[in-house]
Amino acid sequence: MKWQIGEVSVTKIVELETTGGSRFILPQATREAVLPIAWLIPHFADASGRLKMSIHALIVEAAGRRIIVDTCLGNDKKDRRIPTWNDRHGRFLDDLAAAGFPRETIDTVLCTHLHVDHVGWNTMLVEGQWVPTFPNARYLFGRVEYEHWSRQTERADMLPVFADSIRPVFARGLVELVDWDHQICPEVRLMPSVGHTPGHASVLIDSKGMRAMITGDFAHHPCQMAHPEWSSTADFDPATAEATRHRIFSGLAGEPVLLIGTHFAGPTAGHVVRDGMSYKLVV
Ligand SMILES: [Zn+2]
Repeated sequence: MKWQIGEVSVTKIVELETTGGSRFILPQATREAVLPIAWLIPHFADASGRLKMSIHALIVEAAGRRIIVDTCLGNDKKDRRIPTWNDRHGRFLDDLAAAGFPRETIDTVLCTHLHVDHVGWNTMLVEGQWVPTFPNARYLFGRVEYEHWSRQTERADMLPVFADSIRPVFARGLVELVDWDHQICPEVRLMPSVGHTPGHASVLIDSKGMRAMITGDFAHHPCQMAHPEWSSTADFDPATAEATRHRIFSGLAGEPVLLIGTHFAGPTAGHVVRDGMSYKLVV
C-alpha cells in the first residue's frame, strides 16, 4: 500500500494485523460502544464491533531519502508483556526487501516514540548479539522522549526494550537525539504531539502543495475521532493526550491533509472531517 504526497511517497509494510483483543489498549471501546460508530465498519471494525488494528512501518521516500517511521515489534525479542509480541519469527524484513527496500538502503530510522511496538526492528539478533538492522541509517530519537525513558525505573516492561532495541544502536554510534520539531529534510519534519508519551512526535509531509501527517500513537484507532476522550491504557498523561487529539483533529478537520495512521488497519489513511461534536475519518 502506497500513497503519493507531491514528490514524496509513503509505503506501508505490515508486521501484524489483528481483529479483536484490543481491550487491553482501549478499554472504553467495547463492542457495544463501537457498533453505533457505523463509519468504522468494515475497515476499522468488524460487523460485531471488534476493533481492527495494525502494527506496520511506513517508509517515506523524499528527494533521495529513505526514512522508516517506526520499526514495529521485531523478531526474537523476549520479556514482552503481550504474549504474541514475544519471540516472533515474522517475515517483516523479507516483505520490506520485496517492496523495494532492502534494509541496507534505509538512510534514516525515525521512532515517533520509544514504546515496544515502535522500536523492535531497530535491532536484529545475529549470532546471539543485538545489532542495528539498518546499518547505514542514522537513528533519530526525540531528546525529551529518550531522556524520560532512560531515567525512569518504574516501568519494568521498558527495561528489556531499552536493552535489546535502544542501547545497541547507541553503542554503534548511530543515534541522533533530535528536537520534537526537527526538520529531517525539506519535505519532512516532526511535530510534537505529547500526552501518549512525554516526548511523542508525529510526522508532517509537505510537497508540491500536498500535505500528510503520520500519527504515531497520539491516536491508536480511528474510533478516537468519534471519542477523543477515549484514552489508551498506554497514554502517559491521559488528559494531555485527550487535549492533543482534540487540538490535532480540529486542526485537520476539513483540511486537505492525508492522515496516515500508525496503527490504523486496512486503508490506514484518510481525511478528517467534523461529525457532530466530534470527527470521523473519510477514506
Ligand atoms: Zn505507543
